[in-house]
This record gives sequence, C-alpha cells and structure tokens, in this order.
Amino acid sequence: MVFKGFKKVFLLMMSALICLGYRSYPGTLGWSLNSSTTAGRKVFITLISSGKLMENNLPTTDVMGSAGTTLTETQLLQSVIDDYNSIQRSNLIFALDTDADYAANNLNHRIEIEEASASGVSSGEAQPVFLGQSIIGCKIRLTSKVFDSAKAYVSLVTHELGHCIGLEHPQETVWSVMSYFFHEDVYRLAIDDKMGIVHLYPKDPLDAREKATLGLSCAPQ
Ligand SMILES: [Zn+2]
Repeated sequence: MVFKGFKKVFLLMMSALICLGYRSYPGTLGWSLNSSTTAGRKVFITLISSGKLMENNLPTTDVMGSAGTTLTETQLLQSVIDDYNSIQRSNLIFALDTDADYAANNLNHRIEIEEASASGVSSGEAQPVFLGQSIIGCKIRLTSKVFDSAKAYVSLVTHELGHCIGLEHPQETVWSVMSYFFHEDVYRLAIDDKMGIVHLYPKDPLDAREKATLGLSCAPQ
C-alpha cells in the first residue's frame, strides 16, 4: 500500500514536471494556418538586417559547429528555421521570403527581423500583432551586441521567434529556450518548447487534446 501511494505521488510529480514546461499567451490560437496546402502552413521571415558575419562559437556538437570560423546571419537563421521545421508533429512551417510560395501566401503570414536602434531594448524583443485570438504579424528587433557571436544570435532569435508564434516565458524551468532563466546548454529549442509548439500547432488535432494517461501525457493547459 505504501508503495502504491508513493507511485501515485511520483506519477503526479512527473506529470507536473512534464506538463508545466511551456507557456503560451493566454487565449491565443497562434497564427491561422491553412492545413490543406503546404504553402498555407508557412509563416515567412524577412531579414532586414542581413549581411552580418558572426564569430562561430557554437560547440562542435551543434549542427553549425563545424560550418566555418565565421557564419552569416542568413546561415544561422536558416539553422534556426530548420530546428523549428524538424518538429514532426507541428503543422507550422517557417520559410524565408525567398521561398517560392512567398508572393502568393504572405498576407498575414509574415515576420520581420531587423537591427534595433531604439533604446530600451536589452538584447532583443518580439512584438506579435494580434487580431482577436490570432497572430497576424510580428516584428523582432535585435541590438547590435547580439551579432557578436553565433551562439548569442541563435539563442536570441530562437527565443524571439517563439514569442512570435505565441510562446511566453515559463518560469519554473531552465530547460526551455523560452525560459527566463539562462542555461548555457539551452540555446536551441528544447523538449518543453517543442511541446508548446505542437500544442499550438498540432498536425493532428488529437495532439492538442491529449488526455492524461499514467501521468505521462498532458491535457491542454
Ligand atoms: Zn522573451
């Protein structure tokens, strides 16, 4: 009986740990995607501040770690896009505005990244534009110090793109690139971030309506 009680407490703790690792903007449904076509699932990114070269201080274990001593902003942004697009259960696709589908499909599906000049921006900020519960635009502003290193750029752009698609800061974990709490090993999407993205953009609607089973899957937050 004692073991049974311990098991229940353990599973509840595991459930809480697993289910609380991401946070989305209250009430948001994120970007409105048209799931019937690949083009309709795309949110396009315009890079206004392109052309920067950054010191490659990414670890050799990183996908870009051995890609050269310096890397361009476009190379690094593409690696961030690839990271988002590799989430198998997510319906959302990021693409640069050089994508063939851009011209016919960018209305209300566009994010801009630019270098910030205004004061008050610590290292970067994202400003999603909402229409009702949907996101219809977003601007990311990065201060010049972000361009000092590839790792800082990847970390910040991954974080700000998370805001642009509806993710907020979880405050109870460091194992999230969206967390308030910095951890040097977390500079690309972590499992908590990916869970949040699948919750907001489920490829299969059932993914967003999971029922708790054995404390190891999550009901919608
Ligand atoms: Zn933030």
